[in-house]
Amino acid sequence: MRLRAPYASDPERSRGRLYPEAPPSNRSEYQRDRDRIIHANAFRRLEYKTQVFINHEGDWFRTRLTHSLEVAQIARVLARSLQLDEDLTEAIALAHDLGHTPFGHAGQDELNACMTKHAPEAGGFEHNLQSLRVVDTLEERYPGFNGLNLTFETREGILKHCSLNHAKQLGDVGRRFIDRTQPSIEAQLANLADEIAYNNHDIDDGLRSGLITVTQLMSVPFFARHYESVLHCWPGLEERRLVSETIRQMINTLISDLTRTTTERIQAANPVDANAARQCEPLARFSPDMRVEADQLKKFLLQNLYRHYRVLRMMTKAQHIVRELFEAFINQPRLLPEDYRREGHTEQARAIADYVAGMTDRYAVLEYRRLFQIEEGF
Ligand code: MG
Repeated sequence: MRLRAPYASDPERSRGRLYPEAPPSNRSEYQRDRDRIIHANAFRRLEYKTQVFINHEGDWFRTRLTHSLEVAQIARVLARSLQLDEDLTEAIALAHDLGHTPFGHAGQDELNACMTKHAPEAGGFEHNLQSLRVVDTLEERYPGFNGLNLTFETREGILKHCSLNHAKQLGDVGRRFIDRTQPSIEAQLANLADEIAYNNHDIDDGLRSGLITVTQLMSVPFFARHYESVLHCWPGLEERRLVSETIRQMINTLISDLTRTTTERIQAANPVDANAARQCEPLARFSPDMRVEADQLKKFLLQNLYRHYRVLRMMTKAQHIVRELFEAFINQPRLLPEDYRREGHTEQARAIADYVAGMTDRYAVLEYRRLFQIEEGF
């Protein structure tokens, strides 16, 4: 039996599921959540959704699926060393990107623009809210309910951010945005594990793609320091291994700093249980110095990778595809598969957003061809 800190989320004391169910027999409530997420349709589709690079650009780049696995791996290390509930952190990490559209953030921004233009009353499109919508209503697998019927704690963790307007409509799980309290420490860690994962793997993918170079990266002190220390230990090491080892050590440094700082903050706040931890200022944090360094890394990636002209060109195409699909469907709902047709305009717009958001990159491209290219078939 692993040690459990008093402030850890306890599956025996979960706030429960929307539809009451008998407790699981040979796993915890949070393990059951994790397992349901892995069996979900939306989880499998992550394999063909963009993280930064479109799926067909190369087999070696991260996809949303491998990104989510890396987030889960980092989150579990953090949870275990802080004696938190590893299964809950893992469930949140695996589910955090389920609501992502095809083509990454470009797809989301375009879908949001389409919703705002064609159904301003519907409240737009946001991938984080969509992740919750996937697990709460869109998955159709179980006889007694829509969605995966996950525990409150997993749903709370999936909903990372949320506007006040949305929060008011979400009931229990939106409450903390109104009360200005925090989610469980497990959820806070899953969120920071996401950041550790993408900062580091985007450097790796960025270098591999040739869109950024080591010379450019040496302007980021955090990278330069680790790179030079690896080179000092292994003079003459070939570039690929040098980069991999640098990234490995950067992840280690970030995890160690986060664990140390979070431990100190927990000791200072001394929450008696998981609920008391929700009332504290965020407990999972990097040290101030590490925060500065992580932000420099983020800024570098934004300026040099996410806004690289080759990434932007691909994103422009992606936005075009999402916009054309949405407009074709909203103007002529009969072009939609029957499952996605609705009576009211707002309901129809939302169903189109669900349909488009659920598409993988390659499915969106195929659907675009089927709709707009004569030679493509139906
Ligand atoms: Mg993510």
